[in-house]
Amino acid sequence: MGVKQRAVGVRGLEMTAESEVHCWCGGVNLESLNLEYGSCSDCGTVIYRHAVDPAEHVAGHDTSFYGDRYWQHHVPRVLGLPGLEERARTDLAERAVVHLVKILRHLAPGGAPGGRVLELGCGSGSLTYLLRQAGFDAEGLEIGPAAIELARERFGLTVHSGPLESQDDSRPWEAIVAIDVLEHLPDPLATLTLCARRLVPGGRLFLQTPCYRQEGSDWPMLLPQEHLFLFTSDSIDRLLRAAGFTEVEIGPSLFPHDMWVTASIDSALVERADPLAGVPPLVVALVDAYSESNRTRGERDAIGADRDRKQQDVDRLQEELVAVRGDQLAKAELLRRQYNELETVRGDQAEKEQLIDRLSSELEMIRADQGAKKELIGRLGAELEATRQDQTAKQELIDRLGSDLEAVHADQAAKQELIERLGSELDRAREDQAAKQELIERLSVELDEVRADQQAKEAVILRLDQDLEATAAELQDIRGDRRYRLLERIGVRLGGRG
Ligand SMILES: [Zn+2]
Repeated sequence: MGVKQRAVGVRGLEMTAESEVHCWCGGVNLESLNLEYGSCSDCGTVIYRHAVDPAEHVAGHDTSFYGDRYWQHHVPRVLGLPGLEERARTDLAERAVVHLVKILRHLAPGGAPGGRVLELGCGSGSLTYLLRQAGFDAEGLEIGPAAIELARERFGLTVHSGPLESQDDSRPWEAIVAIDVLEHLPDPLATLTLCARRLVPGGRLFLQTPCYRQEGSDWPMLLPQEHLFLFTSDSIDRLLRAAGFTEVEIGPSLFPHDMWVTASIDSALVERADPLAGVPPLVVALVDAYSESNRTRGERDAIGADRDRKQQDVDRLQEELVAVRGDQLAKAELLRRQYNELETVRGDQAEKEQLIDRLSSELEMIRADQGAKKELIGRLGAELEATRQDQTAKQELIDRLGSDLEAVHADQAAKQELIERLGSELDRAREDQAAKQELIERLSVELDEVRADQQAKEAVILRLDQDLEATAAELQDIRGDRRYRLLERIGVRLGGRG
């Protein structure tokens, strides 16, 4: 970390007014991430929105941003990261090894034209030193005086002072390496364009820089003043092609927030079959040791993670145990209370059972009494019914006898009357009989008298018949006369009228 390149023809951030800040691509429209950063609408690069003075920012004197204060104060105190001394020791067997292997995949040590490699922003010089140990003719470039001094004294390196643009040596490099540098540059396009010019044909550029994956305003890589341009994988591809590179390969790097970029001009990026071929045994041993320690670190991390998970399980189980014990105590208390209640309930139950027995007996007696009464009522009812029927029958009989009695009385009266009437009639009949007897006697007398008179009259009648026959004979004689017949006719007419 930590490179101080003076930008030639600074285009991005040399203006002082915030509104004039624009992207390396020329874009001026920013989508705001926060007060400090915006994302270029054209290429997606995240840009620090405040102008910095490049002369002051990347100047090589002690008081500039990347002067000695950067390593001695800013990195350890502000960023909380290891300082220069510690990095000089630790990087050599750790991150420098990783970077070396990535470089070895493309570049053979000691190859034509001599394996000249320049590390921009070499810091303590660990990687430059390791590149030399691997067989490259490596040199460093740095701004901070203290870092330059450390790299020279500790590792015996050739370290160029000041930004790339200010270097007099114009010999081409087989490779240029810049670890965690690009994001600090005020004009990355200008610097990379210069890198392209300083590479041999088929030369390589190796970069490590943060990769923005739309993490947003909380992304830890947003470090105001320090990180001026933060690229996406697309925008760095555009940047490198704009700088003159034709082949670009982007992949993961040591830390998840970084990307590793390999680029060349007119040369396919073919990886070597055996990256460690030709590398001195001590460096191979260092690579192997790193691989082994990385593997054991991975295992240790996995074990640690497993232990953490188990500890979490233990913590959780202990919490659960405490909760269970609390629950158990609460349940015991509840149980005790319920037992007491149960005892009370049992006593109450016994009393109630006695009461129930007593009430049952009473109920039984009441039922028996009730049955007897019911039976009595039934019997009395039947008797009442029989009495009623008997009463009705007797009433009927009384009624009937009354009627009969009345009829007898009426009959008696009628008979008395009849007897009286018959007596009267008998009297009258006797009287009548006497009168009739008297009449009969009188009539017998009269009858005798009549019979005597009748015999007298019959004797007269016999004499008168004889006189009549004598008169009829005389009359026969008179009818023969004419005058008589005339008188007869007159007589007939008178008779007809009358
Ligand atoms: Zn842009």
